[in-house]
Amino acid sequence: MNDILLYVGIDDTDSSSGMCTTYVTCVIISKLKDYGFNISGYPRLIRLNPFARFKTRGNGALSFKLKLKTEKEVEEVKKLVLENVQTLSELQDEKTNPGVVFYQNDVTLELEEFADRTIRNIVSITETESILKNIGADYYKFKNGRGIIGALAAIGCNLTDQTFELLAYRTPENYGSKRRIDHESVVEMDTKTYPSTFDNLDHGYIAIEPHTPCPVLYGIRGENPDVLEQARTMVRVMEPVERHCIFQTNQHTDMHLKPIDNISDMEKFKCYIVNGKVMDKPHVIDGGHLIFRLEDESGNIECAAYEPTKQFRNYVRKLEPGDILEVYGGVGEGINNQGTLNIEKFQLKELAKTEKFVNPMCSCGKRMKSAGKNKGFKCPSCSKIERNGEKVAVEVPRNIEKGFYETPPSARRHLSKPLVRDGL
Ligand code: ATP
Repeated sequence: MNDILLYVGIDDTDSSSGMCTTYVTCVIISKLKDYGFNISGYPRLIRLNPFARFKTRGNGALSFKLKLKTEKEVEEVKKLVLENVQTLSELQDEKTNPGVVFYQNDVTLELEEFADRTIRNIVSITETESILKNIGADYYKFKNGRGIIGALAAIGCNLTDQTFELLAYRTPENYGSKRRIDHESVVEMDTKTYPSTFDNLDHGYIAIEPHTPCPVLYGIRGENPDVLEQARTMVRVMEPVERHCIFQTNQHTDMHLKPIDNISDMEKFKCYIVNGKVMDKPHVIDGGHLIFRLEDESGNIECAAYEPTKQFRNYVRKLEPGDILEVYGGVGEGINNQGTLNIEKFQLKELAKTEKFVNPMCSCGKRMKSAGKNKGFKCPSCSKIERNGEKVAVEVPRNIEKGFYETPPSARRHLSKPLVRDGL
């Protein structure tokens, strides 16, 4: 008898005051395993459009795959999943609208495209429901059921590039309290496993530790499950770990970015890779955000390195009008609701020549001084006077080089690919 392949997608179970869909999925998977069900591969944590309006935090949706023998088993799995989503979700929060999708067929191109749109655009519940009906999927909406969008996208996403994340979870009595992680052990783990694991530290700040009341104690991100298991044994914690789980994910793949030719075609709430020329000198605005405009032949757009990007702003500050950049980032509402490109990283491709005007040189080799207003220049060494002399332009060396510059781990979007993943 052929196996029955069942995909399960889950999203929108948590609220800003608690829970996490990764935890709900992890609990469901261990219960399914306890009943002897066969989970195929790793569960998947798929990050969706960072500008989706109803996200709680990182806009993550979950899916996993089972190999089953009979339709009776399919029904048992569905019952267990739905019961646990019902009991574990933060249903009392008006913004929590769980959705669960069960799908028993191959992932088609249509589903891959839907996932792609959910990562790069905004999609509606109606549109999602019509696809679900077309493909004959079984789906459940709790309250308005917005979670079906993410649930279906998590099933459909084609991982052309991938990373893994190991999430360790706290016991409930510790939810909301300060996490007790031995920081020294995280530094040691990073020293031994970087760059196969990455984004563990950020200038002395422990980046594996979340700062929300959710069940996650820490999350280690890396290139493969083996290195994550090794890293887990190196991280010491002073509180119990209830469980841990490794997820296969599109985090840090740049999957949200679409290369685009014209700045004028860029739209709000979408993410791009775009080339252009710096129009004006970056300047600081209230809140410590750094702003400049980028132009091409089609138009221009405001670009921002926001305050949380910290030291990244030191590189942006060094840009000059005329510099040629390739910018990676998403267009948010922006400072004046006009759409601002939120820079995740950039490649400085060509440096503009910067010059300043100085007094001319004397024929004796000394730099001349002003001889007084409208009186030309006088040499301090040989006293020669140049009545009609003019200031001359000299090139000012730039203290930034061509190359890639990126935001630090603490300000990095989940989807944003760190340069180290490209070996840069
Ligand atoms: P966490 O990451 O902490 O689990 P979250 O940030 O993933 O939480 P959710 O609670 O899952 O946030 O809420 C996001 C909601 O937005 C879900 O209902 C999801 O289906 C929906 N959604 C995700 N991407 C899009 C999109 N591109 N367009 C429209 N809706 C979306």
